[in-house]
Amino acid sequence: MDIFGIKALLIAALIFIPFEHLFHERPQKTLRKGLGVDLIYVLFNGLIIKVAIVLIAANTLDAAAVLVPQSMTQAVGGQPVWLQVAEIILITDIGVYWTHRAFHEIPALWKFHAVHHGIDELDWLGAFHSHPVDAILTKAISLTPVFFLGFSEASIALFSSIYFGHTLLVHSNLRIPFGPLKWLIASPQFHHWHHANQREAYDKNFAGQLPVLDMVFGTYNATGNKVPEKYGVDDPIPSSYFGQVSYPLLPPDKRSDRPVPSTEA
Ligand SMILES: [Zn+2]
Ligand SMILES: [Zn+2]
Repeated sequence: MDIFGIKALLIAALIFIPFEHLFHERPQKTLRKGLGVDLIYVLFNGLIIKVAIVLIAANTLDAAAVLVPQSMTQAVGGQPVWLQVAEIILITDIGVYWTHRAFHEIPALWKFHAVHHGIDELDWLGAFHSHPVDAILTKAISLTPVFFLGFSEASIALFSSIYFGHTLLVHSNLRIPFGPLKWLIASPQFHHWHHANQREAYDKNFAGQLPVLDMVFGTYNATGNKVPEKYGVDDPIPSSYFGQVSYPLLPPDKRSDRPVPSTEA
């Protein structure tokens, strides 16, 4: 069993590295700054998150067995797989949207999410670069209704593959014209603008897969065809994995060897 997800990582690398080389948004080395730290995120963080998802699924399924009528779980799990996957994408992305927005708007949560925004050179591997608290809370909130309602294993497995590919795509250093599809499916440009370190981009484009959620909830950043000037965040995020994981848990003067930006005018 590939508990570290090395097979999926290699397949993704074989797809994204050549495409990013050929169709990049901006020139960037494959062996870029922070690559080693991101590999730790993939392998070590990925394992922690998988264990958390198994625990969330087991506990939710136990609760559902008592609380949800069997007729309902059978009706949900008996729908065609394509319809279940569409419903799962909508349900999970509403969870992702509001969890993500809370991580931006609540200062105690932002410290955890700032780690994801600390990526200066955005590419497909950056999709893995999230603090475990950020990743696990987002998964718990977005996936619990899916396990609770009784969606079938095949639908959840297909959704997981689609989500995995999509989250890598939106972080990738690719310039792909989505045309009118950009209103329906989150594009790299949509999520790149979420990562832009520019005032007009702050607290916009929270959805993971469905930009329509940002339109409905008033946070859509219509960016036209522009490319962000820079990525990253002003918070003093440390450069090492353990520095980043401990960053939100330490008092401000112990968080980083990087200088804290002055708040005085
Ligand atoms: Zn964010
Ligand atoms: Zn991101």
